Amino acid sequence: MAEEVFYHLSPNTYYPPPASYCLPLATRLKSSILSTVDRANIVIVGGGVVGCAVARAVSQRWSDVFLVEQMPKFGMGASTRNSGVIHSGIYYPPGSLKAQLCVAGNRMLREFCAAHNVPHRNCGKLVVAHGGQQEAALEQLAANGRANGVEGLRLIDRDTIHVREPHIEATAALEVPSTGIISAEDLVKTLARIAADQGASLLPRARVVRLDPRADSIAVTLAEGDSNDPPDATQETIEARCVINCAGLYADEIAAMLGNGSYRIYPVRGEYCELVRAKSYLVNNLVYPLPHTDGLSLGVHLTRTLWGTVLVGPTADYISGKNDYERNRLPVEEFVRRAKPMLPEIEAADLQLAYSGIRAKLVPPGHGGVADFVITSDAAVPRAIQLIGIESPGLTSCLAIAERVVSLAAEILQ
Ligand SMILES: Cc1cc2nc3c(=O)[nH]c(=O)nc-3n(C[C@H](O)[C@H](O)[C@H](O)COP(=O)(O)OP(=O)(O)OC[C@H]3O[C@@H](n4cnc5c(N)ncnc54)[C@H](O)[C@@H]3O)c2cc1C
Repeated sequence: MAEEVFYHLSPNTYYPPPASYCLPLATRLKSSILSTVDRANIVIVGGGVVGCAVARAVSQRWSDVFLVEQMPKFGMGASTRNSGVIHSGIYYPPGSLKAQLCVAGNRMLREFCAAHNVPHRNCGKLVVAHGGQQEAALEQLAANGRANGVEGLRLIDRDTIHVREPHIEATAALEVPSTGIISAEDLVKTLARIAADQGASLLPRARVVRLDPRADSIAVTLAEGDSNDPPDATQETIEARCVINCAGLYADEIAAMLGNGSYRIYPVRGEYCELVRAKSYLVNNLVYPLPHTDGLSLGVHLTRTLWGTVLVGPTADYISGKNDYERNRLPVEEFVRRAKPMLPEIEAADLQLAYSGIRAKLVPPGHGGVADFVITSDAAVPRAIQLIGIESPGLTSCLAIAERVVSLAAEILQ
């Protein structure tokens, strides 16, 4: 069967969904566990990597679990539009959920990948500095990482950098051995497959359009397809004892459907370029600058993918639309400008535009600072669990996030 190229110049590809996913929603629901039970135990809204990891974890413990995703396949949002880096946990404030779940998630993800043959590479990374001031910042970063429990960090000099990355220019670097790279698509597919094998019902092309909290359940109304589908499409309802909001960029809108209007997600686009094949020898592994001081992003970095291509990016710019991946793309010269201090040989002719992804930020434009993950039972809607602002390192943390969600669900379903 021919491969369907998923997005521009990405090595990632998607196979067409199984034919059973394309049946009408009502038919799929009739052939699901709903034909034998009057209420589902759990409905998970959103089939990105977090929703799939949650589906795998909760279906180990409970029957009657539904994973509902508006797109035709799982993981088509941020979950496959990212750098695919298994982060170590050096960046996040000690004690934060991001720090705890990234460090735990890093270990869990490596073990999971090894056990389930998910393509990944334990390659480590370098965070590079230019001059005394940046070297002091590197030391602070190393201290922060150690406080978070990240092991094996060490500062290396220019000669040692050149042994590892002959084309990279820097006066010093922080070597981070526990960073790796993963095929995010294969991870999503594997998590979804295990959830299905454990009895969870997977419902792609099913969009949550309404949520009605009741005394001991939440009524979840579904429409066929995503928001581009006709509004008069048939609707179906699942009664759930627990609803878990894993809707990524749209998690604030799902929370609002539940009556909680306190969250707002600001979309921040990250764009990538790719080195032309003939120049991919310039980068051996992962090379990062120091992170933005305003906390917006980790800075434009160089990532050698599992396919041998080299990504340059992502950038970070607030945008107005949550679905705006391609309008007003930055020119390749902008990527050259940002990457040149690390990679002096890079020229505009070496780059072609690649895909982009959109971060689910909780920090409004102009405010700076880092917001932590929100993973909580909803005080006002006792049968709902909210996962909001699951930006980076959400891919790395997905298994640890899922473990935390299991504890919250156990309190609801006891
Ligand atoms: C540019 C970029 C680079 C990144 N790099 C890294 C990295 O290297 N390492 C790392 O650890 N993390 C990285 N991240 C973060 C990581 O990608 C995210 O944290 C993670 O993918 C979040 O997963 P998710 O399942 O919460 O969201 P998503 O993948 O966005 O999934 C949410 C799903 O919910 C569905 N949905 C929404 N509303 C509805 C509805 N009403 N009904 C049904 N379904 C609905 C959507 O269609 C979507 O599929 C990066 C993110 C970006 C944008």
